[in-house]
Amino acid sequence: MSPTAGAVSAGWIERLPKVELHCHLIGAVRATTFAELARREKLDLPDDPERIFADINSLPPDPALYRNTVIPVPQERSADEPEVSYSLFQASKWVIDALRSADDLTRIVYEAFEDAHRQSNVRHLELFFDDVPEHLASLGYAGSVEAYAEGIRMAEREFGMTGRMIKGIDRSKSGEAALAQVREVVDNPHEYVAGIGLDNLETAGPPERFAEAYRLAGEAGLGRTAHSSEHVPSAQNTITCLDLLGCDRIDHGYYVVEDPEVVARVRDEGVVFTVGSTTSRRSWRPWRRASIRAMIDAGLSVIPCSDDPGMFPTTLTNEYTILSEQIGATHAQLRAMALRAVDASWLPAAERDTLRAEVEAEIDALDAEFAPA
Ligand SMILES: [Zn+2]
Repeated sequence: MSPTAGAVSAGWIERLPKVELHCHLIGAVRATTFAELARREKLDLPDDPERIFADINSLPPDPALYRNTVIPVPQERSADEPEVSYSLFQASKWVIDALRSADDLTRIVYEAFEDAHRQSNVRHLELFFDDVPEHLASLGYAGSVEAYAEGIRMAEREFGMTGRMIKGIDRSKSGEAALAQVREVVDNPHEYVAGIGLDNLETAGPPERFAEAYRLAGEAGLGRTAHSSEHVPSAQNTITCLDLLGCDRIDHGYYVVEDPEVVARVRDEGVVFTVGSTTSRRSWRPWRRASIRAMIDAGLSVIPCSDDPGMFPTTLTNEYTILSEQIGATHAQLRAMALRAVDASWLPAAERDTLRAEVEAEIDALDAEFAPA
């Protein structure tokens, strides 16, 4: 079979050198690590830690928001949804409660890199991190970042990969709080902290609230991204992220298909969207995947991401596989995504160019190996 026709070989996808730009540290914690730390800390949980992780399922904001979307959003609970669900936000809070030291922070970063390397041949990983929780306040911002950096350094030495951190800006908080967060990042520059990214539930904070914080980040030369058009069926939020917040890339972005003018603009500008086929309310996955299909068909620059791979179990390899097998992306499209992800990374230009050349050469070799005799 020609590598450009039909389903893409699983071996090719597995060995494809990949770059992951949208993955949350807390959402990447292994279920086994959470269970170990939760037991160590004797956390008072409503169920076994393993059971909780198995039953995570995002709950939607007001279903009425989604009555008239271009791609229909399922309103009903699907058969695979657990009876009792723990939200991503609740589960994240428990994971954070189980973290007690700088060593714990280093460990979960290292494990996120190890999993990305072993499961998906990830060469470069950019990981979102949140505010230092109150019970770790003695570490301070600088101490916690240094703990994360140690995990990255270990992974760089052991696996030959590179990594950066993205400071998550919690949109459920105020614009002033976000400005203070960005000021902390700017006042404590660290070689491994490459940028900021607006996250959490989109209905809780419109992007325009964070204009000041993003302006400061831009002046400091930080990369800027934002979760957008994910929970709010508004293409306009993505325009606000681009024009007012100065984002260099967009996380999710499915609802840009609500507005053909926005679609045309982001296509023409080559705006990069990190898209996840798995990290959705389970009954919403068909909508997610249909949206990604529509984005690809419209010529938008999407790249796959694993988002919260510990809590909604997936890997970047699995995300590429879903793109091929369920969404119908071709070999040429997957190849373009892998290279686009390198280009959209926040590595310094010289390092990015080196990685680009390595990844391209490796994909060429893979293509030759998997080509028909
Ligand atoms: Zn995310």
